Amino acid sequence: MIQISPHARTVTDRLTALGYEAYVVGGCVRDSLMGREPKDWDVCTDATPQQVLAAFKRFHVIKTGLQHGTVTVMVSHLPVEVTTYRIDGDYQDNRHPESVAFVSRLEDDLARRDFTINAMAYNPERGLVDAFGGQQDLADRLIRCVGEPEARFREDGLRILRALRFASRFRFDIERSTSEAIRSCRHLLANISAERIFTELKGILAGEGVLNMLLAYPEVFCTIIPELSPSVGFAQNNPHHCYDVWTHTAHAVQAAPRDATIRLALLLHDIAKPGCYSYDPVKHKGHFYGHPEVGAGMAGRILRRLKSDNETHHTVCTLVREHDSAWPTTPAGMRRLIGRLGLDIVQMLFSVKSADQAAQSGHEREQKKAAMRNAALLLDEVLSAPKAFSVKDLAINGNDLMSMGVPAGPSIGRMLTALLAEVQDDVLENAPHALFARAADLMHRKD
Ligand code: ATP
Ligand code: MG
Repeated sequence: MIQISPHARTVTDRLTALGYEAYVVGGCVRDSLMGREPKDWDVCTDATPQQVLAAFKRFHVIKTGLQHGTVTVMVSHLPVEVTTYRIDGDYQDNRHPESVAFVSRLEDDLARRDFTINAMAYNPERGLVDAFGGQQDLADRLIRCVGEPEARFREDGLRILRALRFASRFRFDIERSTSEAIRSCRHLLANISAERIFTELKGILAGEGVLNMLLAYPEVFCTIIPELSPSVGFAQNNPHHCYDVWTHTAHAVQAAPRDATIRLALLLHDIAKPGCYSYDPVKHKGHFYGHPEVGAGMAGRILRRLKSDNETHHTVCTLVREHDSAWPTTPAGMRRLIGRLGLDIVQMLFSVKSADQAAQSGHEREQKKAAMRNAALLLDEVLSAPKAFSVKDLAINGNDLMSMGVPAGPSIGRMLTALLAEVQDDVLENAPHALFARAADLMHRKD
């Protein structure tokens, strides 16, 4: 049973009272049928955009995409997107329809939607309208295109990634002819903007079923990120590993918390391994010296190309660069690590390293786990003591040093760094009197 949220109900009731048709449609119907809380409620109607504007004159209305028939009506500060039934004109660039035409039949509007599970509508009078077998596909846990898959992907290549995103989110399979078309049409992703690809990629990675997607569609991921290609099937010949690089990567992504940034770091963490491979014929072992550093550089270029925001870029590159480093074994070392990377990234590094380990062979597993536990204890210890991870955390600052006679300029920074090192090594207390005394000491020693 579908329980339309009160704010969407306000919109459908008003349109219906004025003699128009109105249904909730798409993701909210799908989510309700799955027993999930819909993220947002979309309404479709046979009222034209002008008629919708007139119907909601007293509401705050945003003309979101008026020429495509969409307006957003704010009801008690919650947005409801209202879209006039429409069909799309020809797609010239595999992404944007050249034109849209408004139509009067709900079924025509449902036919332009991407997947059967997204092509259902509901209102209390007529009940569920399911013209393409969406309910059956929900029961069978299948993503299936509405209509002929290749034609639908040619219209809009982004649907290829949307299919993987929904399959990953719900742990669904992809129906066979849709799956074949995903593979044969993947080159169409070249026509899709980097921003949209990046958004979908993060959505796929954050899903519960990402492992199956990575294992079943490596060629799609390699189309978006060609640098991944050499990883697929690349044997590691190393006792720490039981999988080729791509399979290891896929398992590592799945083992991580469902956070897009952490999972992006895992997707890219071993990307440089094939390029850094060397074989030791005496020990019969493969090595990948330098791959974290090289990989961080590659990750940086990939994320620029995908138009990543700067924070994600910085975090992912740092995690890739550090994923294979040994943990510090002393409180001072841990404080320096936090000073260098920041606490947030250090905490994410725990997730990255655990996921990486979970996707390795059992070789030395107990030692690796013990090192991780010790590092976690060390982090707790360091965090429960007064903090000084960077010069900002010191109990005195550059102005204080100047007021006691240290000349302005680079010597201020050098002095603060020297004081920080001693505080981190526990030989100096992070308190004004101790820091002033030590600063005076250092200053005189220089004279
Ligand atoms: P989410 O929970 O991720 O928002 P959603 O199904 O609501 O999922 P939206 O991107 O918000 O997805 O789109 C709303 C609806 O519009 C979809 O359910 C689908 O019917 C339709 N739709 C969206 N994008 C496309 C597309 N590229 N091609 C065809 N139909 C689409
Ligand atoms: Mg939505």
